Amino acid sequence: MKNNYDVVVVGGGPGGSMAAWEAAKAGLSVCLLDKDRDVGYPVRCGEAIGDSALRQFVEPEEAWIASRITGSTLVAPNGTDVHIEFANETGYILNRRIFDYDLSRYAANAGAEMYTKSFVKDVIIEDDFIKGVKLDHLGESKEITAKIVIGADGIASQVGNAAGLKTLVKMKDMESGMQYSVSNVDVADNKMIMYVGSNYAPGGYLWIFPKGDRFANIGIGIDGKSSKIRSAKSYLDEFMENNFPDAAILTTMCGGIPCPSPMKSPIKNGLMLVGDAARLINPVTGGGIAAAMRSGLISGQIAADAIKNNDCSEKFLNRYTKRVYKEFANNHERLYRIKETIHKLNDDELNGIADKVSAIDPSKRSLGSVFKTAVYKKPSLIIDVLRIFAGF
Ligand SMILES: Cc1cc2nc3c(=O)[nH]c(=O)nc-3n(C[C@H](O)[C@H](O)[C@H](O)COP(=O)(O)OP(=O)(O)OC[C@H]3O[C@@H](n4cnc5c(N)ncnc54)[C@H](O)[C@@H]3O)c2cc1C
Repeated sequence: MKNNYDVVVVGGGPGGSMAAWEAAKAGLSVCLLDKDRDVGYPVRCGEAIGDSALRQFVEPEEAWIASRITGSTLVAPNGTDVHIEFANETGYILNRRIFDYDLSRYAANAGAEMYTKSFVKDVIIEDDFIKGVKLDHLGESKEITAKIVIGADGIASQVGNAAGLKTLVKMKDMESGMQYSVSNVDVADNKMIMYVGSNYAPGGYLWIFPKGDRFANIGIGIDGKSSKIRSAKSYLDEFMENNFPDAAILTTMCGGIPCPSPMKSPIKNGLMLVGDAARLINPVTGGGIAAAMRSGLISGQIAADAIKNNDCSEKFLNRYTKRVYKEFANNHERLYRIKETIHKLNDDELNGIADKVSAIDPSKRSLGSVFKTAVYKKPSLIIDVLRIFAGF
């Protein structure tokens, strides 16, 4: 490990690896640091992503794909289930352990240096510029200077905090979550199932994401208010008991699921935050793999431009913020408003939507028809839903 690089990337998740990969491809010297022993482990994710979302960055490798998803079933509080077959899309449930690992290998193969067991505890600040990081590497304290630091260290971003950015997610935007990876469950390998309503998951949803061979991620996210009355674990355990009493729980994961709006300005002089660290998460689904990859890629390209122009100031790095907003964060802001309205739908309204959509011929059903029916129930959704579908 050298003492100085063009770019230091903190965090070897999908955001950090894409940033390091892109910066290394541009010929920069790059150091990618992760606190854990292994990149990609432990997994804290449902592991779902669409083929087109993934393919914009990489050709999907067979080893990453646990299962191919061709449709999604939504189950309403009264048990009505509405199946929507994807029209032109395949979804994947990934093996993130392998996927994250491979992305970091791609970065390394492009020339990035990678160090695990490297816990970044602080940033170096000089003349109001972030000039590097302070870390513990294999029990030894170190300092690394860099022209640009990219913080890809997840939702609790130590780097963002140390740099003085407000990374904290409001309690109301933090769902209480729990996921079991379970075996010996009888589920279709090609469809994901989502349960909504106060009996399953108040203010959130419960998911079954199959991983093939009677294996699945079964998890739940409920809003903070509801979790004070009854825990996410208790809802999930009841569901497991009722539906999969013989399941073997191989992994248990619990903690917050952030569903916030994106950070307004995830930059400082010499610093960009990407992925979860910049709160770039789809607020409706809680999905963030694609947004982490996209923001990571953009940050690597902007780092190369900034260094070429010898200008790593916040003013220059604002190009990063602008691209992120133009490419997807404006939509995340709209989705955030949609989420706020969706959460106000009561069980009767959710049942009404399910009944209406299930009356539509299955071949004509789409996510659009669900939204259209939701708009009928809550007209205040209309502007944001139209904008999302119109893509502006
Ligand atoms: C329960 C749950 C289910 C989810 N399901 C889905 C899903 O199905 N689909 C989807 O798209 N998204 C899902 N997400 C969200 C998704 O996991 C994240 O949005 C995505 O992993 C963000 O990638 P990232 O690279 O920004 O951060 P992360 O993947 O969180 O990576 C951050 C990395 O930084 C490292 N790190 C942290 N702090 C430090 C430090 N101080 N020093 C050095 N290294 C550090 C960590 O070890 C980690 O490797 C889910 C999240 C949760 C909690």
